Amino acid sequence: VAELSSKDTPISVKPDGVQRRYVGQIIQRFEKRGFKLVGLKMLQASDGLLSQHYRELVKKPFYPNLVDYMTSGPVVAMVWEGLNVVQSSRRMVGPTNPAEAPAGTVRGDLSLHVSRNVVHASDSVEGAEREIKLWFEVVEASAFFWIYV
Ligand code: ADP
Repeated sequence: VAELSSKDTPISVKPDGVQRRYVGQIIQRFEKRGFKLVGLKMLQASDGLLSQHYRELVKKPFYPNLVDYMTSGPVVAMVWEGLNVVQSSRRMVGPTNPAEAPAGTVRGDLSLHVSRNVVHASDSVEGAEREIKLWFEVVEASAFFWIYV
């Protein structure tokens, strides 16, 4: 098994983004920037997966709504690779609350409300590693690269 790299980060299109047909546009933004897609899958998130993914939020009053939202349809989970991808992708996604997200960010361009903010990106290298391990398995696809499945 290859080692996780701080050059990798998870980015997910949440159920509202999938329902609104934004998967292609969101992938295109990260490809245009120069990042490389190294993992991609569509899945229905389970309550158990979400309680681990959002472990800091399970006590929040909005948590039940967050789970309803995140299980309202499939999620497109991805892993992206590249220079400073954790920080840069988070900047491209924009602040948690779309009302505060500048135009040009994914959330600022495609969403209005914090409870329907279209996309997920990790906010730290430690978080990125933890989330990749939670959502993906890393597979050595050849001597030259690995992919996340
Ligand atoms: P981010 O997704 O930007 O890393 P958080 O980890 O703080 O932000 O929150 C996770 C997700 O929970 C947010 O993306 C959003 O979907 C939801 N959320 C956060 N705060 C609220 C809130 N006050 N009301 C409703 N949903 C929220």
